[in-house]
Amino acid sequence: MESKPKRSVSTQSAQSERAGDGKQLGTMKAGYLYVLVHPSDPNLYKIGVTILRPEKRVDQHNRHHEKHAGQIVKETGQKWELNTYIAVPDPYWAEKAFWGATHFSVIPYLGGIEVQRMKWQLVQKGLEAAKKAGLRPPERPLPDHVYAYTAWMNKRLAGRGITLVGHVRSKFGKSDFQCSNGHEWRTVPNRVAEGEGCPQCGIGEKDPVEIAQAIRPAFLCLLIHPDKPGVIRIELAYSDPRRCSEENVVDGWELHRYRYCEEPVLAEALIWELLGYPRPNSREPISMELSRAEQAFRELIGRMQHEIAQVEKSKETGPTSRLSQDDKCALGRMQLKSGLPRERR
Ligand SMILES: [Zn+2]
Repeated sequence: MESKPKRSVSTQSAQSERAGDGKQLGTMKAGYLYVLVHPSDPNLYKIGVTILRPEKRVDQHNRHHEKHAGQIVKETGQKWELNTYIAVPDPYWAEKAFWGATHFSVIPYLGGIEVQRMKWQLVQKGLEAAKKAGLRPPERPLPDHVYAYTAWMNKRLAGRGITLVGHVRSKFGKSDFQCSNGHEWRTVPNRVAEGEGCPQCGIGEKDPVEIAQAIRPAFLCLLIHPDKPGVIRIELAYSDPRRCSEENVVDGWELHRYRYCEEPVLAEALIWELLGYPRPNSREPISMELSRAEQAFRELIGRMQHEIAQVEKSKETGPTSRLSQDDKCALGRMQLKSGLPRERR
């Protein structure tokens, strides 16, 4: 009959998927989708998935009278019979495909019973879909801002004995954390960012002022001069953006726009790229339409997040040899030290 699948595949996105028998499993290996039929009614089927031999699952269903399938056995005194089974590389995915091909859709699938009266033709239709399902497609890539928030979080966890598990999708949403003593918890990332430690052992608690000092953010400033239209200056202020204009007030320069950035070196490299202008050696004024500079400032945060995302992704995928050319560019930028000559793209 069916041969045992040779490859065992653990799936990435099965974290909260449910196994056919109602258990919560993180990942599931290759296995089988099976069809049981009940002698009391030729149209009464039970569909299930397992990584065990299907024969073994039939036996379990017939013995466990507390479960839905077992109740039918108890009530009728007749046992479920194995009608057919197919080997599938991704059982949950196959099960989903099976129900998706029927007009029952995912209702029995979600209900956790998977016992259904249906015509054999419909079972066949489901089986065909399950056979074709293969492996679930890889998860869609996360948006750039998720990587940027993740980097933001990791920066604030440095040296605290707390590890972020997964990503930060929103600073004020919920993320998972683990401490070096093995405790796991779920909380608002911003609270941990502001110094909250492990709720069980307290490890990683830190003064928010100290955390902020370690970050050393900067403000990238766009300066204009009322007497010099068509000329701009870009400055980097490591404290308050107002200092940018105060320092330049003697020359009459004014602060027009600024952006908060925790990666000042990257921000400065990107702003010149967005301006389409070679970075001047000293920060002297350059001739440029103000609207163009404003546009570059509008695009800056998005571009920053994109670059940070590339670097974060490269950490996840491992060796740099697997990086695309774009990733390597981004890495190069991140490693740029202020003042070094930079090649223009
Ligand atoms: Zn702890």
